[in-house]
Amino acid sequence: MKYALLTPSNTQVRINTIYCLGQNYADHAKEMGASAPSSPIIFLKPNSAVIANGEDIVLPMMSQNVNHEVELTVLIGKTGRHIPRDQAYEYVAGYGLGLDMTMRDRQLEAKKSGHPWTVAKGFDTSAPLSPFVEARLVADPHALEISLSVNGVRRQHGTTASMIFRIDTIIAYLSGIFTLMEGDVIYTGTPEGVAQVKPGDEIDASIPGVGTLHHRIT
Ligand code: MG
Repeated sequence: MKYALLTPSNTQVRINTIYCLGQNYADHAKEMGASAPSSPIIFLKPNSAVIANGEDIVLPMMSQNVNHEVELTVLIGKTGRHIPRDQAYEYVAGYGLGLDMTMRDRQLEAKKSGHPWTVAKGFDTSAPLSPFVEARLVADPHALEISLSVNGVRRQHGTTASMIFRIDTIIAYLSGIFTLMEGDVIYTGTPEGVAQVKPGDEIDASIPGVGTLHHRIT
């Protein structure tokens, strides 16, 4: 069982479904050779993929090219269906920092053959998650700096202002298809600069005011 920690109250919330947005920053869509999507691209990760800050990210044998993607994450606090955009933030319990570790070679193969991304995106340790900060303490989730470095060298740096589909739109969209539930986590997409990691690399990621992550690659 995987739990999200909500701070500063130190409430533990059982992690339910993990929804992820693909290509939600125009500059990242471009570096993937895609144009900005006209509707949200959604995929899932199993909650068994979650690891906490400090735990090792284990590279799967079946991939020669695992990439980091740093993302703002949203923790859903209550059940909702068909949530209107103007009520979306009432369903957010907190904000966190996540890594969407990706077997890029496997994902490209899947894209080419029209197969799902599940293996490329959902393997064990592919979902590092920081503790979540209670939503009331984050004044504007679209005014956050987000960055990631590997071995002290910055590789990703952006702002959550650049998201194509904003959090209220994402929640309205998802809840029109899936019943959102307490403990659901949404990965909101990554800015540009995704790149390969190798065994021994050290990843440091942060969203000031929200969270930090430190992980070693093995
Ligand atoms: Mg991603």
